[in-house]
Amino acid sequence: MTGAQALALEEVDKRYGTVHAVRRLSLSLDAGEVLTVIGPSGCGKSTLLRLIAGLERPDAGRVLIDGEVAATERRSVPPEGRHVGLVFQDHALFPHLDVGRNVAFGLASLPRSQRAERVGEVLDLVGLAHLAGRHPHELSGGEQQRVALARAIAPRPAVVLLDEPFSSLDENLRAQVRADTLAALRETGSAAVVVTHDQDEALSLGDRLAVLRDGRVEQVASPREVYESPVNRFVATFMGEADFLPAHVHDALLTSEIGIVSTVPGWAHTDHDVEVVLRPHQVALRPDPGSSARVEGVEYHGAFVLHHVRLPSGRAVRSWQQHGVRHDPGTTVAVGVVPGSRPVLLSGDTALAGPPPEARR
Ligand code: ADP
Ligand code: MG
Repeated sequence: MTGAQALALEEVDKRYGTVHAVRRLSLSLDAGEVLTVIGPSGCGKSTLLRLIAGLERPDAGRVLIDGEVAATERRSVPPEGRHVGLVFQDHALFPHLDVGRNVAFGLASLPRSQRAERVGEVLDLVGLAHLAGRHPHELSGGEQQRVALARAIAPRPAVVLLDEPFSSLDENLRAQVRADTLAALRETGSAAVVVTHDQDEALSLGDRLAVLRDGRVEQVASPREVYESPVNRFVATFMGEADFLPAHVHDALLTSEIGIVSTVPGWAHTDHDVEVVLRPHQVALRPDPGSSARVEGVEYHGAFVLHHVRLPSGRAVRSWQQHGVRHDPGTTVAVGVVPGSRPVLLSGDTALAGPPPEARR
C-alpha cells in the first residue's frame, strides 16, 4: 500500500432501467480514513457500496481501489479480486460454519498455519476469541455483527464497506458495537465506508460525512462542517433539526421576526433579503407575558427538553432547553438567539458563504 488513496470514484454513473441510481459521483478516501454516508431511502447508498465492491458495474466512470483500476464501463475486476471487505446489515454469516471458519473464509490464499494465526488475531481484536467454536445461531446480534466485521477485516482489505451495519441491533447495544467496530477499523488501518440512516451515528462515527440525495453527493466534509455549515437547504434539513425564517441583512446586522439574530462579518455595506437557518440549540427562550410568541408543545428527551414555539407570523421554531427547564404549552415567550451563534444564511436553497454581488449597496 502506498499510504495514498485507498479508494477513488471518478464520475461513476449507474442506472437500473429508468432509475438513475448513481449520477456522475466522485469521491475519494485516504488510507485508513472512515467515511460515513447518509441520505434518504433510495438515494443510492447501497448501489454506491455495490459498485465499489464489484457487485455492480458502472455504466460510466471509474472505480480505483488502492491506486488500481477496479472498474470502468468496459472492464470490471470481480469482487474477490478487489481489496475490499463487506459487512451487511443482516451480517450474512454462513450458518453451517463456526465462528472461526466464518472468519477464515476470505483467507484461502494464506498457508494453513498463518490462516489460524490471523483468525486468532482478528477474533481477539473484536473480543470474540472465546467464541471461535460457536455457530452463528448461538450468538447474539451484537456478536454476529462482530464476527461479520472480523471476517471482513481478516484479509487486511484496503477498504471495508459497511451497509447499515448496526441497524438490526438494539439501541443499547448499538453504541458499544459502534465504538468497538471503529476501534477495530482503526487498529487494522483499513479505510471504511459506513452507510447509515442514523443522524447521531453519521455525526459521531467517521472522519468525514457524505450526504447523498438522488444519486449525487450534496456535501462531503467533516461531520462538524456538514452540521454547522450545510451547503444547502436539503443538507440543513436532513442532518439535524432546522427551522427557517425570512431575514434581512443590513450593514452586517442580521434581523428577522425574532429581532436581531447576529452580526455577519463580511457583510458591511449590504442590504439583502435572506433566510436564516436556526438549529434548536441556537434558539433562546424566556417567559415574557408581553410576547405574542407562544409555546405549543414540549418534548422531554432526558438531557434536553425540546420546545416547539409558534411565532406571531405563524412560523414555528424549536428550542433545546436544559433538562430542568420546562415552559408549559401556552406560555408566552420572548424568542432570541443564543449569544455567539452564527446561523447559516440561505438565498433560495443555497447557503451563502458571503454576500452575493447584488447585496452590495
Ligand atoms: P439506498 O441504499 O440509498 O436506500 P439503493 O442504492 O438500494 O438505495 O437504490 C437506489 C435506487 O436504485 C432506488 O430507486 C432503487 O429502487 C433502485 N435499485 C436498486 N437496486 C436495483 C436493482 N437491482 N434493480 C432495479 N432498481 C434498483
Ligand atoms: Mg440501502
